[in-house]
Amino acid sequence: MAENQDSLYADWKKLYPRYQKGFFRRLKWGLLFLFLGIYYLLPFVRWDRGVGVPNQAILFDLPARKFYLFDLVIWPQDIFVLAGLLISAALGLFLMTALAGRVFCGYICFQTIWTDLYLYVEYLVEGNRKKRVRLDAEPWSAGKLMKKLVKHTLWLVIALATGGAFVFYFADAPTLFHQFLTATAPFAAWFTLLFLTITTYTMAGIAREQVCTYMCPYARFQGAMFDDNTLIIAYHPEHGEPRESNRRNRKEMGEAVGECIDCNACVTVCPTGVDIRQGQQYECITCGLCIDACDEVAAAVGMEHRLISYTSLTEMTGRKTRWLRPRTLAYSALILLLLGGMAYYLATRPPVEMSVIRHRQPIYITLSDGSIQNNFTIRVLNMSPTPRTYALEVKGLEQSTLSLAAIDRFDKSGRPLISIQPGKVMPYTAYLKQNKESGGKGAKNITFHLVDSHETDISDIYDSVFIRP
Ligand code: SF4
Ligand code: SF4
Repeated sequence: MAENQDSLYADWKKLYPRYQKGFFRRLKWGLLFLFLGIYYLLPFVRWDRGVGVPNQAILFDLPARKFYLFDLVIWPQDIFVLAGLLISAALGLFLMTALAGRVFCGYICFQTIWTDLYLYVEYLVEGNRKKRVRLDAEPWSAGKLMKKLVKHTLWLVIALATGGAFVFYFADAPTLFHQFLTATAPFAAWFTLLFLTITTYTMAGIAREQVCTYMCPYARFQGAMFDDNTLIIAYHPEHGEPRESNRRNRKEMGEAVGECIDCNACVTVCPTGVDIRQGQQYECITCGLCIDACDEVAAAVGMEHRLISYTSLTEMTGRKTRWLRPRTLAYSALILLLLGGMAYYLATRPPVEMSVIRHRQPIYITLSDGSIQNNFTIRVLNMSPTPRTYALEVKGLEQSTLSLAAIDRFDKSGRPLISIQPGKVMPYTAYLKQNKESGGKGAKNITFHLVDSHETDISDIYDSVFIRP
């Protein structure tokens, strides 16, 4: 019996996408400049948050474990807000996919944006598709070497600038920029810069469409969000078939011919190597470049119909695309619910947080006058954008006095006053003493109250216990 020689592995065939002008190409350029502009400039936007607080609009301050997003400051205890934002973004992506297919991949994904940029550099340096194919096929020469050197150098410069922009989100951007220029940046910044330079160069320059086809998990499971009303790029065989390059002669001979002249223009522009005339394929990132290519051909040969367009399977059967569907409504409702819940939490979260830890060594102290003392460590975090002064008091323990180590300011009621700068957490040692005359015994539940000195509302409370013999 003859052995099956077919291999499950196929060699990678390098693609040479042709540069194509047109409406979707212009749209992609517009979005590319918009997204890259935001990405590069955002870390340099300043945002006044008061004295002693970073003034960078977007800053992921890892050492301080705080994320600054304009007026929103996310503390470690608010990390679920960040998780909620990420889940909302994922649901937004699902909604976008259910409505418009892979438009995120075709226009917004950074892999596509950088691949577009790299392909344009390749086009400028080595020429359009045919010239690039010829250049790769010809033996090495000084001219070929020079072109390859220029292209890869430009790719590396773009990759370096990209990495640089990302690290600026994790430190004060102007300071870090100056540190890079003077070679005084910290090791972690250099390492991140190098890592992102190499990954961007590899993904956008070398791997390109393979990232979308083989590496990106989203490409694999987004089919689950598609239905008959999802926007896709489709070829219209009812107008195009039977395709024929020698259309005029065949027509004159009385043969039935479609409008597709089998020029392959739609295939040669495709950045993922798809022939859209074969039907819907998961490699298609719905970038619309094949529409531009076919539109140009249509204008040149005078076709009556558009052969490739954005449409849906429903529309292709002559019915209207339905945008409001159970799944799109469900995704929208979930996003609104999540964002609404987070907005409510952020609007109502207290601007101060207190934690109290009772000292266990010793559990209590009997003082020389017979009174009982418990010691506590109190931490107060001022999350408001201004310096605050708070009064601290204990409720639930009769005939008691509260004092704080190194604090000698008290309000009119005799409560110790503490002042905290914005964004700071301050620890205090508290001494809570109950007079001998109270006669209390055993454990007693108590509550620490933190009251803003300018407001009558209690800022935060914390339950604890007072231990007596
Ligand atoms: S088939 Fe068309 S829309 Fe799909 S990836 Fe290729 S060029 Fe873009
Ligand atoms: S570009 Fe249009 S005419 Fe040319 S092969 Fe593609 S579908 Fe046919």
